Amino acid sequence: MEETALKIRVFGDAVLRKKSIPVKNIDSSCRDTLSKMAQLMYAQSGIGLAAPQVGINREMIVVDIGSGLYKLINPKIVSKEGRQTIEEGCLSVPGVCVKVKRARIIKVRAMDESARPVTIKAQGLLACVIQHEIDHLKGKLIVDYASLWKKLRITKHLEGMRSKSKDEKVPESEAKSCKLQL
Ligand code: ZN
Repeated sequence: MEETALKIRVFGDAVLRKKSIPVKNIDSSCRDTLSKMAQLMYAQSGIGLAAPQVGINREMIVVDIGSGLYKLINPKIVSKEGRQTIEEGCLSVPGVCVKVKRARIIKVRAMDESARPVTIKAQGLLACVIQHEIDHLKGKLIVDYASLWKKLRITKHLEGMRSKSKDEKVPESEAKSCKLQL
């Protein structure tokens, strides 16, 4: 079992753009990864985290909007209803906020960590977060929803951040510019 602490991968890392593959065996190492992902999500004040964000291209996500922790394996959206637009941030795209139009109500099928099938009907913020995390499994990021003009601004901002020394911390105001970190 891997004991190394997980680390958030940021924009520019190829792992964030790769399509994840389904988990075949829901075993102790899978459960271990999910609990480490949840710990990291809480430590970063996030409300959702997908495995590619920690460098693992497997279909696993954790979500907690304050009403309980979901650990979902191989999640699939089976139905969508309505529309909502929420301003989203992403732990892997620091300092960036994008208004994303998504379904307001979704039905999701997944496996839990005991390999039992689960069906979740989510709406509002929970639906938004689950859709954001499932996007990560497809290699999709919030930047992809931005207008061309905003995309240019974001790229410039992220390049500027990358050129800073690795140890230099992102200023608090920049890192927390978006209320929702997913
Ligand atoms: Zn994200």
